Amino acid sequence: MDTSKNQTVLVLNCGSSSLKFAIINPESGQQYLSGLAEALTLPEAQISWRFGEDGDKQKAALPSGADHTAALTFLEEQVLHGQQGLLDSLVAVGHRVVNGGEYFSEPVLVNDEVEQIIEKCIPLAPLHNPAHLLGIRAARRLFSSLPHVLVFDTAFHQTMPAAAFRYALPDELYHEHGVRRYGMHGTSHYYVAVKAAEWLGQPVEETNVITAHLGNGASVCAVKNGKSVDTSMGMTPLEGLMMGTRCGNVDPSIVFFMVDELGYTLDQVKDVLNKKSGLLGISGKTSDFRGITQGVEEGDENAKLAFDMFCYRLAKFIASYYVSLGRVDALVFTGGIGENSLMMRSRVLELLAPFGFVEDVKGNEAARFGNGGLITVADSAKAFVIPTNEELVIAQGAARFA
Ligand code: ADP
Repeated sequence: MDTSKNQTVLVLNCGSSSLKFAIINPESGQQYLSGLAEALTLPEAQISWRFGEDGDKQKAALPSGADHTAALTFLEEQVLHGQQGLLDSLVAVGHRVVNGGEYFSEPVLVNDEVEQIIEKCIPLAPLHNPAHLLGIRAARRLFSSLPHVLVFDTAFHQTMPAAAFRYALPDELYHEHGVRRYGMHGTSHYYVAVKAAEWLGQPVEETNVITAHLGNGASVCAVKNGKSVDTSMGMTPLEGLMMGTRCGNVDPSIVFFMVDELGYTLDQVKDVLNKKSGLLGISGKTSDFRGITQGVEEGDENAKLAFDMFCYRLAKFIASYYVSLGRVDALVFTGGIGENSLMMRSRVLELLAPFGFVEDVKGNEAARFGNGGLITVADSAKAFVIPTNEELVIAQGAARFA
């Protein structure tokens, strides 16, 4: 890539009813545009964006029922209209893809065959992959002169050994049907693992870290010598930690109980486990961690239980990764909750005291709202807060093909 000019990448992240976009310089990380189209396919579909890192936020209603294609068309025809300099600086489009199965362990240039593989992976990510495909197809039409590159959430975890990625299920479910653990949030785990190695002043290839990406979705990853060797999400994002609305690990027999004894349909069970459980299910009020910590401060017993469960389960997962890694150089917190909740970090470090963690209260207070840092005292096992930057990893992955 020619670094003498300002070259940028358009990063697209299509969710089931949303589309996040950004234009980023993959080397400096500078953002020239960022925005979000929301409520896609619904009457209240809308789009908002801002130029630069602190430009004014602009908003517009999209036509009722607008989908990802309509949102991208609006981006190209309206938002970028008259922004010739920015359009000319684009050298690639990077698309985030949640699940690429076992097909991809690196970013890949899109062609029709790659699109077909994403289609084949729909059963592994039924909400996300169809939305990704809509975005990829529309963007290839609208930005036809640029290379389009897919960057997978699952790619970083393709280095997991079979002992970590297999389920104890009959062999044919894996070999004939791909039933295995894939893991998610790979770009984030990778980014913060590389940063942690930098902060530790050692090569990432010789660094062992446990990374906790805690947002509405949440997962932990054991990174050994810079490679993922285990992670808490599984074949789908439902496995592992307690999350905003997802239950994380439960006894699978609960599904049979709900169907056979309580008369739920399978769709209702799916809805309960994915959308009505986790922090929302236990607190009875909110899936938002700020609401949970506020509830704890106000003495709400259900919020307190949700907080206790979230921290206890997270600490247990982290502890189990000492088995995966042997030696742990640092623990890293990231994602909206990991980057901001002092209360959660303080509790988790307290639970991990047997592993030598001692909170640095001032350090913990200082590391929030985009500021990272060390949050444990000298001589303690090290824990960092590192703000994640998935868009930058996607932009860098895409720029390789420019
Ligand atoms: P997503 O997975 O949707 O990208 P984010 O990484 O943005 O989510 O994280 C969203 C979560 O971060 C929410 O539960 C939100 O309450 C939590 N969060 C954001 N700011 C704070 C804060 N100051 N204190 C506690 N939690 C916070």
